[in-house]
Amino acid sequence: MSVFSLTTPTATTADTAAPTLAIRHLTVRYRQTEALSDISVEIQAGEQVAIAGPNGAGKSTLLKAIAGLQPITAGEIRYFGAERAAPNSIAYVPQRLQVDWRFPVSVSDVVLMGRVGRIGLLRRPSRHDRLLAQRALERVGLAAFADRQIGQLSGGQQQRVFLARALAQEARLLLMDEPLVGLDIPSQDEIFRALAALRAEGVTILTALHDLQQAARYFDRVMLLNRRLIACAPAREAFTAANLVATYGGHLHLLSSGDGLLTVADTCCHPNLDGTL
Ligand code: ADP
Ligand code: MG
Repeated sequence: MSVFSLTTPTATTADTAAPTLAIRHLTVRYRQTEALSDISVEIQAGEQVAIAGPNGAGKSTLLKAIAGLQPITAGEIRYFGAERAAPNSIAYVPQRLQVDWRFPVSVSDVVLMGRVGRIGLLRRPSRHDRLLAQRALERVGLAAFADRQIGQLSGGQQQRVFLARALAQEARLLLMDEPLVGLDIPSQDEIFRALAALRAEGVTILTALHDLQQAARYFDRVMLLNRRLIACAPAREAFTAANLVATYGGHLHLLSSGDGLLTVADTCCHPNLDGTL
């Protein structure tokens, strides 16, 4: 998959009162594996939801199904009450390993590409488009990097470029697959700051994440997934011993932290190395 593929399913009429996402009885089967089994959940506009679960739990599959990149075996996903999402309303950021960072484009080019769906492939970006792209880079703290080649940036900076692209695209729903893998703590903090900027814009965010403490701290709800949906609730409600055992099974290490929250370490985590999406 290239850096530039965006999900732009055809528009149908959207119902503004409807949830951003309504997933009903979603099942996704690969040839041998049932990756997701009868998932039903609703995500409201502006919510930030972390998706947690062990390796192979179906986190990437769920994000790809929502992005329209993964065929659904059964069930349905509705976007703003409609069968399909409006063009450019979804931004999907794949795992870092699945992106070719040698591609010779500048940071501002990548962000401007978020405008392509709005301005059309053949029209040149207007001043307005450039201004939006520049403002998006400022929001994620990367204004000074606009002319750098994307491959020269650190992992955390690259992730923030994609957040800026989602902002420039004026996406209403941002899907991110393990954006923190391989990042040092300061870079992770930068990502969370950038996510706060998106929150201020009312963007709905779904992020696959391994660290349950980060999930509890930065997200409105945590979806615990292990092929089945175990819970999708604020961390305090979701992180019961029963839910954590159902999610992590044998990999479970329960720890209680100062504020009484249970935390878990699983024995993960190597993102798919085969380059598949
Ligand atoms: P996670 O992101 O939570 O690690 P995935 O969605 O990548 O989980 O995978 C869920 C299950 O589906 C795993 O058992 C995985 O091996 C399988 N799977 C994922 N992608 C494919 C594929 N392209 N073909 C066949 N099986 C797949
Ligand atoms: Mg994954």
